Amino acid sequence: LSKIIGLTGGIGSGKTTVAQFIEEFGFPVYYSDDRAKTIVNDNEDLKIKIKELLGNEAYDENGFYDRKYVAEKVFNNKDLLHKLNEIIHPAVRIDFEEWVKKQTKYLVFKETALLFELKLNLQCYKSILVTAEDNIRIKRVMDRDGKTYREVESIMEKQMPEKDKIKLADCVIYNNTNLDDLKEQTEKIIFEIE
Ligand code: ATP
Repeated sequence: LSKIIGLTGGIGSGKTTVAQFIEEFGFPVYYSDDRAKTIVNDNEDLKIKIKELLGNEAYDENGFYDRKYVAEKVFNNKDLLHKLNEIIHPAVRIDFEEWVKKQTKYLVFKETALLFELKLNLQCYKSILVTAEDNIRIKRVMDRDGKTYREVESIMEKQMPEKDKIKLADCVIYNNTNLDDLKEQTEKIIFEIE
């Protein structure tokens, strides 16, 4: 069975970039957020549960998950958001377990923004945190998404503080310089895992 390595980082830390390097080095990566977006459309069981919770309008006339409607519905309703997550997260977990069974490499990676928040690190052999200084992360997301400084900052404020994540992580990648440096650090870490 493959060893599972959790890969995480806050907004704009560079975890997706690191995940892509990992794939270039020949290891499979499970992208939890992307999979969640697919599962809400593919998994009939999940669809029923989501409709029960949020109403039939959670899916549009073509049967596709209406992200905007759902976002508005759970915005400022912590209880509803919590219930929605209680439906989606276990489905992603099962999907991941099925995916892992199909892998043949000795290491597989699970990219997720919520590794520590959901205590998914407990199911991993090792965890890798990608981090960078706040200002650098904000700048990168502003460039990538066209968001304002304040918009990115307010998302960051809602995430687990970096110092807490650093304490929990087995390995930390400091992504404060350039992509060559990031790739080099990634390579070093993944080939040193034993
Ligand atoms: P999110 O959680 O917001 O999706 P993320 O942690 O997945 O973010 P990335 O998308 O990998 O972060 O990186 C954020 C942006 O910064 C991207 O546009 C990426 O190309 C860029 N970036 C990441 N690392 C570096 C770097 N070392 N030098 C220059 N640009 C970088």
